[in-house]
Amino acid sequence: MMERRRTRQIVLPHPSNPVAVGGDAPITVQSMTTTKTGDHEATLQQIYALYGAGADIVRCTCNDEAAAEGLARIVPRSPVPIVADIHFQYKLALAALEAGVHCLRLNPGNIRKPEHIKTVAQEAKDRGVPIRIGVNAGSLDPDIEEQHGITPEALVASAQRELAYFAEIGFDDVKISVKASSVPLMVEAYRMLADTIEFPLHLGVTEAGPPPAGLLKATAGIATLLMEGIGDTIRYSLTADPVEEAKAGRQLLEALGLRERKGVDLIACPSCGRAEIDVIDVATRAQAAFGERQLPIQVAVMGCVVNGPGEAKSADLGIAAGRHRGHLFIRGQVVRVVPEDEMVEALIDEAEKLVKEGVEARLAAADSGAAAEAEADRLALLDDKGLDANDSEARVELIRKRADS
Ligand code: SF4
Repeated sequence: MMERRRTRQIVLPHPSNPVAVGGDAPITVQSMTTTKTGDHEATLQQIYALYGAGADIVRCTCNDEAAAEGLARIVPRSPVPIVADIHFQYKLALAALEAGVHCLRLNPGNIRKPEHIKTVAQEAKDRGVPIRIGVNAGSLDPDIEEQHGITPEALVASAQRELAYFAEIGFDDVKISVKASSVPLMVEAYRMLADTIEFPLHLGVTEAGPPPAGLLKATAGIATLLMEGIGDTIRYSLTADPVEEAKAGRQLLEALGLRERKGVDLIACPSCGRAEIDVIDVATRAQAAFGERQLPIQVAVMGCVVNGPGEAKSADLGIAAGRHRGHLFIRGQVVRVVPEDEMVEALIDEAEKLVKEGVEARLAAADSGAAAEAEADRLALLDDKGLDANDSEARVELIRKRADS
């Protein structure tokens, strides 16, 4: 495991669900609502959907008076800390604080007057509310851009200038982001920042775009840094339903072993000449059937019983196809054989029981003849297709003959 960079810790002070960022706190997932913040019911609905999909923190724009008033109605009913996103108008930051938000995001590139910045920071300090300094490569201070161009140095300089204003009034309840839509640029900027300051970092590739390219871009940037131990909270900025952002963030942290698994980790074999089923179809149906079920186990869908249970023996549960039947296995041991068209249902049923009763109990409840039936199917398939089901050895033979002739 990578060693996480040491940072200070800040806390977003939600009364019943305070969320710590940095220090030894788990890395958190953020997303941002796309509703009008002034429409507080629609926004709350989206906040709950994001919370359900794995978001720990939700940001809402505070772009006008109506949005600030919306925040006053949203904050007391939100299950997660709310961050108000502020651009251009420092007075809206003050209004958001009045609304009771748990954090502000200020863009140093478009709120530039030192007295305005310090007024907001002083008010946040008095209320115990942290601020994210949210630098964005697309909206840098013009003088910083002129001096450094759009470079990692410019992003870091912008964050440091804001930090210096905060320091003048003794405010350090801060996290920082230096986002860019270019992955190499943001990765380098975060690395530079991590070398120079101790504040927690909020990671993101801004304007990553629609999935799947947006997902890849965001993952490339965020995962690279997380694997270096850099990053304390993350956001996928996708052109998609924000629920997809929260899910992606959560899944990335689970895949990297940085957050405890909540849902199923579905793995599937790539399929080959031995496959007895359409693996893509069964795996897709299984993924949809597991949906949002909170079953924190790894489940494998394997195309054949010849190699499936062995190849996926580290999975908690799996199913492998063979001779029109599904062979259900737990940690590589076949426990039940079901008709092929019941494979997905059997998988869900066993997953529920496995999580409830545990591995030992489910192995003890295995059908007595299952292992022998599976072995008989495995041998019959080997008989049918032989050891070289993909014809690899036959092809190698041909290549050799051609070379010799
Ligand atoms: S040998 Fe079986 S389990 Fe392995 S990839 Fe081929 S079909 Fe899937």
